[in-house]
Amino acid sequence: MGRYRPVADIIGRMRKIDHLRNVAFVGHIDHGKTTLSDSLLAEAGLLSESLVGDARALDYLEEEQRRGITMKSANVSLYYDVEDDDEPFIINLVDTPGHLDFSGKVTRALRLVDGVVVIVDAVEEINSQSEIVLKQALEEGVKPILFINKVDRLFREIKLTDEEIKEKFSRIIEKFNRLIDRFKDSEFESGWNVSAENGTVIFGSALHKWGFTIPKILQIGWTFKDISEKYLTKEFEDLKSVLPVWESVLSMIIKQLPNPLQAQQYRIKKIWNGDLESELGKNMRLCNPDGPLVMCMSNIKFDSTRLIATGRIFSGTLKKGQKVHLVDVNSNERILKVALYMGSRLDDAGSGIPAGNIAAVVGLKEVRSGESIVEEENSEAMTSFESVKYVSEPVVTVAIEPEMLKDLKNLQVLLDQILIEDPNLNYFISNDTGEVLLSGMGPLHLEIAGKQIEDMGMNVTVSKPMSVFRESIAGLSSSVTGKSPSGNIEITLKIQRNDLKTVGFLRNIKTTVYSSYTQIKNTLKENTNLTNAEADGYLFSDEYGNLLINMDENIEIAKYRGKKKEYMHKQNKKQAKLRKREDKRSVYIKDTTTSDIVSAIGTIFFSGPLCGERLGELKITIENLHYNLSDIEEGDISKLTPLLRKTIFSAIKEAKSVLLEPIYKLVIQTPPDQLGGITSLLSQHQARITNVEQYDEFTAEITAFISVREYINFSTEIRSITSGRAFWQTQFYSFEQVPENRKETIVQEIKFRKGIYF
Ligand code: GDP
Repeated sequence: MGRYRPVADIIGRMRKIDHLRNVAFVGHIDHGKTTLSDSLLAEAGLLSESLVGDARALDYLEEEQRRGITMKSANVSLYYDVEDDDEPFIINLVDTPGHLDFSGKVTRALRLVDGVVVIVDAVEEINSQSEIVLKQALEEGVKPILFINKVDRLFREIKLTDEEIKEKFSRIIEKFNRLIDRFKDSEFESGWNVSAENGTVIFGSALHKWGFTIPKILQIGWTFKDISEKYLTKEFEDLKSVLPVWESVLSMIIKQLPNPLQAQQYRIKKIWNGDLESELGKNMRLCNPDGPLVMCMSNIKFDSTRLIATGRIFSGTLKKGQKVHLVDVNSNERILKVALYMGSRLDDAGSGIPAGNIAAVVGLKEVRSGESIVEEENSEAMTSFESVKYVSEPVVTVAIEPEMLKDLKNLQVLLDQILIEDPNLNYFISNDTGEVLLSGMGPLHLEIAGKQIEDMGMNVTVSKPMSVFRESIAGLSSSVTGKSPSGNIEITLKIQRNDLKTVGFLRNIKTTVYSSYTQIKNTLKENTNLTNAEADGYLFSDEYGNLLINMDENIEIAKYRGKKKEYMHKQNKKQAKLRKREDKRSVYIKDTTTSDIVSAIGTIFFSGPLCGERLGELKITIENLHYNLSDIEEGDISKLTPLLRKTIFSAIKEAKSVLLEPIYKLVIQTPPDQLGGITSLLSQHQARITNVEQYDEFTAEITAFISVREYINFSTEIRSITSGRAFWQTQFYSFEQVPENRKETIVQEIKFRKGIYF
């Protein structure tokens, strides 16, 4: 059975890689992930059985309990004895949030595990969120298995016939397999289809704590009829002892999901861009606990004053006191404590945790989500892990105002803490109005963040959510030349819009993943529509789809690979040296100039010429840069930035400014009698309806594309017109041009909000 054991017992088993599994429960909100986790925890002795369904041990945030949704990941390690095996199994279970607003957390949690149990509500079937999660799992090389939950509802609530139930199950399984076929991209993933007969699907009720696979029910000589009869005779309580859900789930996990050694053999090449034949590459593929330490961090949490980082150890053994190198921030730190999560509790892991496991690290000050950790001596050899691919991005903004003006500084401190835990939020202080603007993936995401600030002891007012906007261009400019007032610097550049493929790629690229510029250039050649010459001129890109290219062969590229501190340090040393050695001066100037251009571009992109919104999707090609050595020698960025801004803005003017806005893909499930009302509400909000489907007499589904700007009011109106009987979810789709007839009004509104009167 699955049991709770003291951490020391679990750690003692963690080197037995073939008896280890790392798994997460994923699925649409409300389909039963938390109830199922709780059943397992109760069985393990971590939760009193009478509390299952109420206690929600993995929902450790008060806000989650109140709303009854899971938003943060909490993990637990279970100890599972199997009858026909002398060795117990250790199952590291990672809980994931259900609401799509928080899907960044699901994505990060996938980095930790090798398999997921996808939980699907038998009544509602597979919906778009299950689809997204499956796609993300396959992208991470994580194997999915299927749990069809709430089967009790088919007998008790909607009272389907046996034939109808069978049809429903086949429909769910077929769709699940279709999605695997659609999203798989490796030879391993093609064998991941599930089937009822071979025991890769569980049918069950997490609430009533029973579940089975077809081989299991055949083994005890039962059929579906025996289950439905238990409901007719109201003896369904018996089911939990005949077919305990924890047993079906745990035994399916150990039989069907890979152990870390099997998984790392194919996963490493999906999530890491380094050389697979290098020492680090080989040890990661072998999941070698005696190899060099390589760990990838996923969740970061604040615990009073310290950071607790949860990550997956891909090679080596993580030990207390170890000195480690944090690759992305390029710093060295010491590990104060290694621990394991047991639900919401953190237990000291004493002697250390070997490769293939998930561990919590206490004491790293600069650690952030996605960071790679190695021993100091491997700092040069390590390439960091690929960034996780988020399905959404911050597209909604609120203004947050502390009740007392004097708290403004403290508000920033709190926001900095919240952002460390949740990198899918971001904030900035408006230059124009001094407002603190917080952006997140959706209104709920921001509401929760606001609540978190209050829980941290500060009263704040949060404005109504607003859509974010970006500025870009419609066409392309000619070559535009700008000169500094003294005439010492002259720059010629042209500007055009990046295509969708390139933007999509740039949105997810993490430049620290690449150990050299050559590698970035090659990746750009493979994944974007850039010409080879353009890719070769790569200087800088950002997550807003902007790209800076240098075509002037006289400018050398500053090779700081995101390791800015180190680069700057080297530059300072170099500067001192070079001042003494006049003959080498031009080398220094070239390096400094490119790094200055890159920093200047960052501030210029922050606020566009149309209405001060962030610039996005731009390709800026520098064709020529002339400078007078004596002017540049001081590294005088203050001259370069205004010149670049002026030149870029006049190129933008020539290429015609456009305003972009985020679009959500919206999927609404509703009783069919509400279809008329909802479709007309959608048209009032200028949504594009792309599909309307009626599944049966209870459920219909509408798919539409709607601007985030319209969605904000739509979401309150739909609640009232359907009396809360419709359910919907949104997913960020893309940035699109604001309709021409709305552009002027929106630009004026933004300017008014920001107090810009020009
Ligand atoms: P999550 O959002 O996926 O974590 O879903 P929860 O575990 O919070 O479950 C959502 C709701 O569905 C709760 O009210 C549960 O009591 C209910 N629920 C979960 N599993 C079952 C089940 O097997 N049968 C029925 N009838 N209800 C269930």
